[in-house]
Amino acid sequence: MPHDDSPVRNPLDSSMGRLKAIANLLNPVTCWDQLTPEQQRAFGIAGIVHAIGAIGFLNGTEPHQAFMAADVEGLEIMGGILTEALNDPGALPRPDMSVIGIRFCRICGCTERCACGDGCSWIEDDLCSACEGKQG
Ligand SMILES: [Zn+2]
Ligand SMILES: [Zn+2]
Repeated sequence: MPHDDSPVRNPLDSSMGRLKAIANLLNPVTCWDQLTPEQQRAFGIAGIVHAIGAIGFLNGTEPHQAFMAADVEGLEIMGGILTEALNDPGALPRPDMSVIGIRFCRICGCTERCACGDGCSWIEDDLCSACEGKQG
C-alpha cells in the first residue's frame, strides 16, 4: 500500500531518488547527460546488442556462442564509451539504481534479483536483512 506522503516517482527524475540519503552514489542520469549525442547513440545501440545477447544466452537460444559474444561485445563497447567520457572511471562509485526504478540496499547495494550471498530480505525500503545494524 503506498504511503500518502510518498510522491509519484518518475524513474528518470534523479531528484526523486535516494541521492540525498546516499550522496556518494553515482547518478546515471548525470552520466548520460555528460555524453555527446553521438556517444549516446553508440551507447544505446551497443546496449541493444548487449541486451539481445544476454537475453538469448540466458534463454539458451542457438547459436549460444553468437549470443554470448553479443552480450560480451556490446557491454565492452558500452564500457569503452563511458571510460572515454567520464573523468576518472577507475574511481566510480556504485550507481544509484533508483533512477532506473530498481530497489537496492543502501549499505551493500543488493537488489531483488541479486541478493546477498547467504540470502536476505527487505527490512526497510532501502535496507536488507544482511545489513541490519551496519552503518553506510
Ligand atoms: Zn544490504
Ligand atoms: Zn542483501
